[in-house]
Amino acid sequence: MAVPPMRRPVRLGWTVALAVVYFATARASLLLALPPSSATAVWPATGLALAAVLILGSQIWPGIALGAFVTNVAVSVGHHVALPVALWTSVAIAVGNTSEALLGGYLVRRFAGGTEAFDRADGVLEFLVVVLLSAAISATVGATTLGLGRIVPWTIYGVVWSTWWLGDSVGALAFTPLLVAWARGRPFALRPSQVGEAALLLILLAGISQVVFLSAYPLIYLLVPVLLWAAFRFGHRGAATMTVIIATIAAWSTILRRGPFVRGTLNESLLFLQAFTAVIALTSMALVAVLSERKRVEARLAESNDLLLAQIAIVREAKRSEERRRLAEAALASENARLYAAELDARRQAEAAAELAEAANRAKTSFLAVMSHELRTPLNAVIGYTDLIVGEFTGPINETQRAHLGRVRASAQHLIALVEGVLALARGDAVSEELHIEPLDACSLGRQSAALMEEAVVAKGLVLALDVPDTPHLIETDATRVRQILINLLSNAIKFTERGTIGLAVRPSAASVAFEVRDTGIGIASHHHEQIFEPFWQVDQSMTRRTGGTGLGLGVTRQLARLLGGDVAVASAPGSGSTFSVVLPVRRA
Ligand code: ADP
Repeated sequence: MAVPPMRRPVRLGWTVALAVVYFATARASLLLALPPSSATAVWPATGLALAAVLILGSQIWPGIALGAFVTNVAVSVGHHVALPVALWTSVAIAVGNTSEALLGGYLVRRFAGGTEAFDRADGVLEFLVVVLLSAAISATVGATTLGLGRIVPWTIYGVVWSTWWLGDSVGALAFTPLLVAWARGRPFALRPSQVGEAALLLILLAGISQVVFLSAYPLIYLLVPVLLWAAFRFGHRGAATMTVIIATIAAWSTILRRGPFVRGTLNESLLFLQAFTAVIALTSMALVAVLSERKRVEARLAESNDLLLAQIAIVREAKRSEERRRLAEAALASENARLYAAELDARRQAEAAAELAEAANRAKTSFLAVMSHELRTPLNAVIGYTDLIVGEFTGPINETQRAHLGRVRASAQHLIALVEGVLALARGDAVSEELHIEPLDACSLGRQSAALMEEAVVAKGLVLALDVPDTPHLIETDATRVRQILINLLSNAIKFTERGTIGLAVRPSAASVAFEVRDTGIGIASHHHEQIFEPFWQVDQSMTRRTGGTGLGLGVTRQLARLLGGDVAVASAPGSGSTFSVVLPVRRA
């Protein structure tokens, strides 16, 4: 609320301007003064000074002092008062006027809210009290000075004091709100509709003023509605301006000795006029204060209403998002349920498939048992009886019969081999549980297998070459299966080799052992290298016929090697022999 200090040239400008306006206003008012004094019933200069202090701050006091001093000197000199007296009385009165404005400004700021005093009904009341009080100081200083300076006789001290006091009070009540209202807030602007309304109001005022001040009837109250209209529709500025306009019209007509305030003397008439002015000023001020208070309350209400609406919106939104969350949760739950059902279904299907597989496996096992029994038994019988006949235990046979029986026997043996092969292959899937894993020496395993086949090698006129380290090399594996693998490979080597060497090498390394079966036989073309491991697959049917075999041996070999965690590979070319290597891990995974 405190007014910021002005820069020096600005302050000087305002000070001089204030002094000049003060002087002009005061000179005009003093035309109506109690002769030969400076006491007048109309003193807007007080309102001007107080407004200046409220708007521009206490720093403006020299303007007031100067204005008041010059005014009073001029008046005194005009009334032929001796210059020294004129000077000191003027100084005294100027001090009174300046103190009045400074004290008034201080008290209004301190108690009534400064320039905002007129926004509250309480502020208006406080302003009134301050004005009456500070005017009393000025009136006391002024009337006493005039008495002391013998400018007016002490006998009319009371009249001078009350005239001074009322003049100052009304000046402040009418003019301070006017100046403050116009100095504060937004720049002045009227909407087109307001311009029309203001014009209408002024026309009405002119009409009523005519009636009030020209007719002989006591119709002064007719001005009240005009004042209310201004207050209601045009706020502080409207009310304060209308108050001053009405006061001016009233003063003017009273000076012209017209209208309801005219009394015996001009001073007396003006005192009545001032009482009226004070009342309308107060009324309009109080009304506008109440209106602006109501406006503020309405604004606050609207604000809190907005807040409430916003809060309601927030609560609604929260509810809505809660609902959305609930829906999403429900959707999630149903999705979960669906997934769970699907999983259950899949598990059930998997279980059913596993059961089916289990059943199939059981059927296979029993089929294999039946096969091995039902096929091998009659075949063995065929071979047994053939041997009986060939051995001539049942009587002599001729050579042709012997030759035929030989083919019967060979065919039966082939069939048995086929049955054995198929059984071995079919059993392969299920043998993993039957594996008998134990730590054993790979080198001696190699030597044993070679020894088993040595007779067949020699019988065919071949040489058996062993390349096995002396130091044992332990691997964890199934001895029977390894032996089966090596015998398979060695049999093939013997079978497909006519001349040369059958070799067996054992090559241990840190994590694995490689068994290599080498021959100097017919060899295998590279495009057959994969096919030979397929069941029933043979490179050459005619050759097979000559060498026998079922085409199942390598299939079983690969199956066993993989079962033991390793694999089998071939390196061979037609005419340059073959090398089959089986690599087995030292420790089966
Ligand atoms: P079988 O020996 O009973 O015919 P295998 O599965 O053991 O059946 O062999 C498949 C085929 O691979 C043989 O028929 C033969 O053509 C070829 N084969 C296997 N071992 C050798 C070998 N050491 N030398 C040449 N060919 C071979």
